[in-house]
Amino acid sequence: MTAPVVVATKACRGCGETKPLDDYARKGKSRAARCKDCLRKWAVQYRSENADRVRVNERTSRASNALHRQAWRLSNYQKNKEKIRARVRARYSELYPLEPERWLAANARRKQRLKVDMDKMDRALSLAYRRAIRVDACRYCSRRLVGDMHVDHFYPLAKGGTNHWWNLVQSCGPCNRHKHDRCGTWMLLRKRTS
Ligand SMILES: [Zn+2]
Ligand SMILES: [Zn+2]
Repeated sequence: MTAPVVVATKACRGCGETKPLDDYARKGKSRAARCKDCLRKWAVQYRSENADRVRVNERTSRASNALHRQAWRLSNYQKNKEKIRARVRARYSELYPLEPERWLAANARRKQRLKVDMDKMDRALSLAYRRAIRVDACRYCSRRLVGDMHVDHFYPLAKGGTNHWWNLVQSCGPCNRHKHDRCGTWMLLRKRTS
């Protein structure tokens, strides 16, 4: 005679259904009163009803845990390096399947963003400057192409340029694409000699 297999269950205080214990989050030695599904639903509802408070709370806890988070991110990356890199590769090959150079440029930009430490004032200035030069003509050809104007990094991000306001110029689409990851001086000199 074999003993019957007993699956521990518990009634949820939220939906009232009886579910296996694994459907309840651990809470010290016991389990939560509501099942995970109910908690998820509750969290979604709470976030939508208290969006402002949630945003402030998240910002505060992010700031106070910055060092801890950074350490965790690093150790997590070291632990799951291969998995993370595979995921990034998959994502980028999905985004830019036929344009490896765009992949490389995006990757360089990302690295640059991580490296350059712009403070709050720098970012605000850059944003204001972007707005201010929006009406400008192309720095390289002096045209103003409606709907095809870009903010160009005079010294390209891919080569160590930054997002600081003094590195931003207005450029038309054709010039921007032609310039690619070259320095802005190359464009200006080229225009003068040709
Ligand atoms: Zn439930
Ligand atoms: Zn142009």
